[in-house]
Amino acid sequence: MAKNIQAIRGMNDCLPTQTPLWQFAEQAVRNTVASYGYSEIRTPVVESTELFKRSIGEVTDIIEKEMYTFDDRNGDSLSLRPEGTACVVRAGNQHGLLYNQEQRFWYMGPMFRHERPQKGRYRQFHQFGVEVYGISDAHADAEVLMMSAHLWNKLGMTEHVRLEINTLGDNEERALYRDALIAYFEQHTESLDDDAKRRMYTNPLRVLDSKNPQVQSILGDAPKLSEYLGEDSKKHFEKLCELLTLAGIQYEVNERLVRGLDYYNRTVFEWVTDSLGAQGTVLAGGRYDGLVEQLGGKATPAVGFAMGIERLVLMLETLELVETDLSSVDVYVCAMGDDAQNQSLIISETLRKQHSDLRIMKHNSGGNFKKQMKKADQSGAKIVLLFGDNELEQGSVTVKYLREDKPQLTISMQELSTLLEEL
Ligand code: ATP
Ligand code: MG
Repeated sequence: MAKNIQAIRGMNDCLPTQTPLWQFAEQAVRNTVASYGYSEIRTPVVESTELFKRSIGEVTDIIEKEMYTFDDRNGDSLSLRPEGTACVVRAGNQHGLLYNQEQRFWYMGPMFRHERPQKGRYRQFHQFGVEVYGISDAHADAEVLMMSAHLWNKLGMTEHVRLEINTLGDNEERALYRDALIAYFEQHTESLDDDAKRRMYTNPLRVLDSKNPQVQSILGDAPKLSEYLGEDSKKHFEKLCELLTLAGIQYEVNERLVRGLDYYNRTVFEWVTDSLGAQGTVLAGGRYDGLVEQLGGKATPAVGFAMGIERLVLMLETLELVETDLSSVDVYVCAMGDDAQNQSLIISETLRKQHSDLRIMKHNSGGNFKKQMKKADQSGAKIVLLFGDNELEQGSVTVKYLREDKPQLTISMQELSTLLEEL
């Protein structure tokens, strides 16, 4: 027998039993962004490798070890996108959408990172994200956070997530802080692991993000970025905190929150949950006022976030927050006899046109009454329409209820129309 071909490790199929939950989550996302007047943007899955190197930062997990990079047939280095923001900025610059304009975009789609697959962490995963351009005021930061809170509320998840925020200040402030951090780490090299030692000079802020308890043990006494902030950065952060309070959104300031991508400045945030074990961050983002210029555009303030859809769906599953309808059929159409089979094919199509909200499945594989009824039941339909010689002669149809204790009826096609309207 020929060998079965399997999917790539860490890249999952989403089977028909799982798609209803995904669709539910995606619909909640679509409704939420629509409520805020955001427009959808779609970009290619493959971009030039240079785009990600220049935006995400060379000394980050993504660029150092997680990217799917390959040479195409022309010898150009391409990468599967590991995240969406760089792609949206690239598209915005290319099409002149950003400079001197206010834009509110959202996107949803697959991302790729070569990580160790585990629960909530995959090599192909999906993100929903928003990006706001041209607004430097903290109102924009507050709006994207309110939007995420709105989404949790819609999904009934509010009590299962909490918000952590921090400010990274601006470039110059961070440069001063970097020096202070490096000096501190130099005095504590004995507690640093190899990763931290390698990064302490190139990207010392990333060391704050270390998951190693030994490294963490010296972080408590490390210099704090808040001590290096200038007036404007402080004001921006204070205003955001005020707006969140005004909006009734609870948050915690976590001074160690630095995020894994280099382009952030000022506001950074994460929505975290305890219900997913180690992979606790569901949604993360922040301000990135320098990125548009860094990628060749004119300086444009920006803020955004990305949410992992797998983690969201896992939460909905784990917490059993929704009851999704797995069936994809409302009405199953059966027929006895060749003539009835043919005619009911056409009648089904007419019914679909008349009742466009109903999902109507026509039985197409023949067989006796018992077999057809079994298929009808398996389809999950609420009712069966049965056409036989008698019915066709009289212009009528027999209706059987599959999920309710109601007697079967033989009614005219006119009466059927009323019945289907009320189904
Ligand atoms: P983590 O710390 O969990 O690795 P990250 O900082 O790399 O997350 P971001 O790049 O900010 O994550 O991506 C935003 C969101 O996308 C994450 O909060 C998470 O929900 C989701 N995400 C990131 N990487 C993966 C992955 N490999 N598999 C599934 N979801 C992911
Ligand atoms: Mg990561």
